[in-house]
Amino acid sequence: MSMQKEKILITGACGQIGTELTRELRLLYGQDHVVAADIHIRPPGISNYVQLDVLQEEMLDLVVKECGITQIYHLAAMLSAKGEKNLEAAWNLNVHSLLSVLKIAGKRSLSKVFWPSSIAVFGTGSPQYNCPQQAPTEPKTVYGISKRAGEYWCNYYHEKFGVDVRSLRYPGLISYTAQPGGGTTDYAVDIYHHALTSGEYTCYLAEDRCLPMMYMQDALRATIELMEAPAERLSVRTSYNLAGLSFAPCDLAASIKKHMPGFKVAYEPDFRDTIAAGWPASIDDEQSRQDWGWKPYFNLASMTADMLNQLVVQKGIALPVVAEIPAYEFFPHES
Ligand code: NAD
Repeated sequence: MSMQKEKILITGACGQIGTELTRELRLLYGQDHVVAADIHIRPPGISNYVQLDVLQEEMLDLVVKECGITQIYHLAAMLSAKGEKNLEAAWNLNVHSLLSVLKIAGKRSLSKVFWPSSIAVFGTGSPQYNCPQQAPTEPKTVYGISKRAGEYWCNYYHEKFGVDVRSLRYPGLISYTAQPGGGTTDYAVDIYHHALTSGEYTCYLAEDRCLPMMYMQDALRATIELMEAPAERLSVRTSYNLAGLSFAPCDLAASIKKHMPGFKVAYEPDFRDTIAAGWPASIDDEQSRQDWGWKPYFNLASMTADMLNQLVVQKGIALPVVAEIPAYEFFPHES
């Protein structure tokens, strides 16, 4: 099958998304066909791994050449909250590494590139509810500016050099394996851990700060479905809007309290609430639905039930499994 001939490089493979995307892509393409790369020394238990600083363009090019890479999933980046404290480093990492990846993809005729953008491209001039694909983008963070610039670079390399680069504007992502890496939506992961350990949580966003979010399984499936879509179906070469769920911290707290009535949440908004205030509360992803058939699966209740079930097992906590979740077999895994 042609899928098996692809050789994939994942940058930022040790991060929140990279950890899980590496596992899913290896199930699909085979262990030997997916090279994981990150700036860290090889973490225990990971094979087919390269320690690589994506800002070292020559090294990146060498890895692509030596490993016979045909596709890159370029995930290495500095996220929104961390970026506001490291302006130049965030810009440098987020934009220059993407430029290197696009340049190498053109030079070595790679078959496809995936690069994630973010809802952070939107700003106060964008509609707050059901923010459409073509809404004005007035990013207010260095992260958002870097993502918007990156979107235009992707479009440029596609139009000018024929690079088949595909992109999604991820909302805040929630997962139970790797910890989030310094984004504004990290609270939505931390809150579950605190619910199960201390039974209380202080949230850095206002209780009614509604934001677009997505459970990791849906984000992984979206990524792989977009990458497998026929190129001629794709009308957006900057980055596609992508929606899963939208909720505020108080909604998330209420969904946890249904299973753990004693859970206590306090609110102490900090600078991250100001960042979040500039983002839309919900996203219109009609173009993704039309072009490549996107449809989310998880809602708030099923996500909370699954998160608690998974974390109870992971932490070895002696609590009963909170709810039965219907089996979610979302990839046609090759055996
Ligand atoms: P993360 O911070 O968890 O992981 C990023 C990884 O990149 C880390 O493992 C880090 O070690 C690595 N990295 C940093 N500098 C590097 C360098 N110079 N060379 C090589 N590796 C380096 O981030 P994530 O949440 O997994 O995000 C992955 C991508 O998805 C990013 O582009 C991010 O902007 C985007 N995104 C994430 C979210 C989210 O909610 N997590 C939302 C929207 C977009």
